[in-house]
Amino acid sequence: MIDRRHGFFNRDQETMSRDKREAYQRQRLSEILLHGYRHSKAIRSGFEKAGLRPEEVRDLKDLEKLPITKKADLVNAQKEALPFGGFEVVSETGVRRIYVSPGPVYEPGEWDYQDRRWAQALYACGIREGDIALNTFNYHLTPLALMLDESLGMLNATVVPVGPGNISMQINLMKQLRATAYVGTPSFLMAIIEAAEGMHLDLKKDLHLGATFVGAEMFPESLRQKLESKLDLMVRQGYGTVDVGCLGYECPEKKGMHIPEDVIVEIVDTETGKELETGATGEIVATNFSKVFPMLRFATGDLSFFIEDPCSCGRTSMRLGRIMGRTDQVTKVWGIFIHPWQVDEMMAKYQAVANYQVVVTRKDYRDEMVVYVELKQEISDKMGMKKRLEKEIQETLKVTSEVIFTVKGGIPDRAKKIDDRRIWE
Ligand SMILES: [Zn+2]
Repeated sequence: MIDRRHGFFNRDQETMSRDKREAYQRQRLSEILLHGYRHSKAIRSGFEKAGLRPEEVRDLKDLEKLPITKKADLVNAQKEALPFGGFEVVSETGVRRIYVSPGPVYEPGEWDYQDRRWAQALYACGIREGDIALNTFNYHLTPLALMLDESLGMLNATVVPVGPGNISMQINLMKQLRATAYVGTPSFLMAIIEAAEGMHLDLKKDLHLGATFVGAEMFPESLRQKLESKLDLMVRQGYGTVDVGCLGYECPEKKGMHIPEDVIVEIVDTETGKELETGATGEIVATNFSKVFPMLRFATGDLSFFIEDPCSCGRTSMRLGRIMGRTDQVTKVWGIFIHPWQVDEMMAKYQAVANYQVVVTRKDYRDEMVVYVELKQEISDKMGMKKRLEKEIQETLKVTSEVIFTVKGGIPDRAKKIDDRRIWE
């Protein structure tokens, strides 16, 4: 029996003490800053705008002095200076691949892929040497599938580069090649499972899956439970973006996502770009150490928080909590920012609440907010409940709002959590 729950891809690195990790990252950071400053026009101009020299960023905390790079900055810079916007540190002929991601963003791929972050993630999810892995991520244009392909190679696992689509072929391949690992999105894995059940296959006997790695989309706990119980194995996720690579991965303990050592992740205030205290929710900003396309303080647009307490798997890194949503889902009411996750967290405390929606309108130049709430069943003290919710909204969101109970089914399942109906003219 293969032990898929214990061990490390790189024990020394994954179990470093906090001081040692900081020293390691400081060293790598100073190398990449110097390298970027010397060879990348965009990075040099970022330093110049900030009135800084690479030597002045001595500590991880000093990173804050550098500007944040947003996706839009990258897209605009590339329009001005095709194809890579001056962020590249190689000549155009020295590139193995040019990846094309939505934006569009063009990204150079190095000849010699040595980034071990995805390999660490795959290992933590239970994939081992000798596995035969179906890689169902799309191999066209974007880098993820190829990065995972290379990383599976680092684990000495065999890859079937199948890509997405054609579910019956996927199932046949799984059976005939006795594939032991799945790599892809969680929703596609669910689609495969449903199709296999439709073919009256026994998921545990007819398929031979032992490990799964999922990513590239939101992964709700309810879907994980479904997948795990149907397949009778653990399903773990990795998190990252095409621009900065892997930023976190779950281990068997499933208590947040370990941040690999070869990237620096910050959680920042979306307004100021300054780092928040540990545990506070903010935007994930990452600095990677790519030799060909280094990204300094790249804003992912995703919201999360740090978890600092130690993990019993033995990995010592900080972890990211779950992804709470996107920064662009924020709504401003009475000049106060309201994120869907804040409403989620607040409502999760009330057992009786089945569904809810925040509706923002504007009347006589004044914002008005109403929270519609659908209850699981009728309760006796509805007035008391209304008062409690209104008080909680006031205290948590700092906005006055009326709570109105709707009939059962009054809020459609796919309704937006915050529906901003204000018209600006
Ligand atoms: Zn862990």
